[in-house]
Amino acid sequence: MGRMIYLDNNATTQMAPEVIKAISEAEPVVYGNASSMHTFGREAQRLVEEARGNVAELLDCQPSEITFTSGASETNNTVFMIAKSIIDRKGGRIVTTTIEHPSIIETVKYLRKQGIHVDQAPVSADGRVRMDELEKLMGPDVVLVSVMTGNNETGAIQPIKEISALAHRFGAMMHTDATQAIGKMQVSCKDWDLDYLSCSGHKFYGPKGVGVMYARKGRPFEPLVHGGEQEHGRRAGTYNTIAIYGLGVAAKLAKENIAEESHRLWAMRERLREGILANVPNVVVNGCKERENCLPGTLDVSFENVEGESILLMLDMAGIAVSTGSACATGSLEPSYVLLAGGLDIELAHGSIRFSLGRFNTMEDVDYVIEVLPPIIRRLRQLSTRG
Ligand code: PMP
Repeated sequence: MGRMIYLDNNATTQMAPEVIKAISEAEPVVYGNASSMHTFGREAQRLVEEARGNVAELLDCQPSEITFTSGASETNNTVFMIAKSIIDRKGGRIVTTTIEHPSIIETVKYLRKQGIHVDQAPVSADGRVRMDELEKLMGPDVVLVSVMTGNNETGAIQPIKEISALAHRFGAMMHTDATQAIGKMQVSCKDWDLDYLSCSGHKFYGPKGVGVMYARKGRPFEPLVHGGEQEHGRRAGTYNTIAIYGLGVAAKLAKENIAEESHRLWAMRERLREGILANVPNVVVNGCKERENCLPGTLDVSFENVEGESILLMLDMAGIAVSTGSACATGSLEPSYVLLAGGLDIELAHGSIRFSLGRFNTMEDVDYVIEVLPPIIRRLRQLSTRG
């Protein structure tokens, strides 16, 4: 294999060496069931609780407010099913947006089939939620407001603190899916006055298949997975001890590195953006513009008269891994619903590529992309019958 550059960090990240070291040392010796009362069990439980402490530090909350899940999809489903249960008993509705991750968008479709009323606020061209429209959707009957912190495709960051204050003014609970934001910006359950938050280990250099649910003390909780008494009855199933421990190590690293990491990612993102704009004509940068409204490592670009999938394949042949729209939607050639929700022309949505930078990328990687990409686009445009 020649030079390989991974620019798909929003789809998933490589585990940090510190995480690999910690879990490979723990794996052979900590194999007890964390619910068992003997020494082996207690040792496993110790690792789980260490992780819970690290996550609580990262999210600025109490360890008792953290529940470990299989990932952000499960956490998002759990939060929406809690809201459904309240609405089934007392009435009410849910307010969310049109650009959430599929684990919310599809849950919304499911809940609507179950007779639950869900409203979705639109976004502007910069990918940010229309606050005026969101306010119009609010009322005393809203049980839950759910708005993601940072978008996985455009990188747009939402004003969560402001939205949380709005939700609470109407007596609703506030949830944010912070999966893409963790490790790239400060996230504080306390400062943002959140009731629920979702995130996932594999987006910040931890293991896959393990996630977090923050539920504020005293807020309603109903398990999605029923069974054992793990997590105080909040989530049944034998503890995924080693993965949870790895997530905890990743959380500690994320907290230590946020400021430096976000600065580095933004510098690479800006060099990539400027390099593409200077060397490729007829390009549109999608979503956020100002640094404070952008996830620092995300750059989504549409190339006129080219299919995103063709660009992806040509870049892959050159050793560069990127994504078209959301990785969760690959396999279908539907244009990204997130870009369409921001009002992007359907042709341009078909020609979009998401570059997502991470901890292991360098400026040299960025320069290589700037060198390789322009001739690929030129060639594809020559081949295109429309070009
Ligand atoms: N929310 C967002 C914003 C995401 O980007 C992702 C991952 N693509 C998820 C939720 C789902 O996370 P997981 O893979 O842990 O289920």
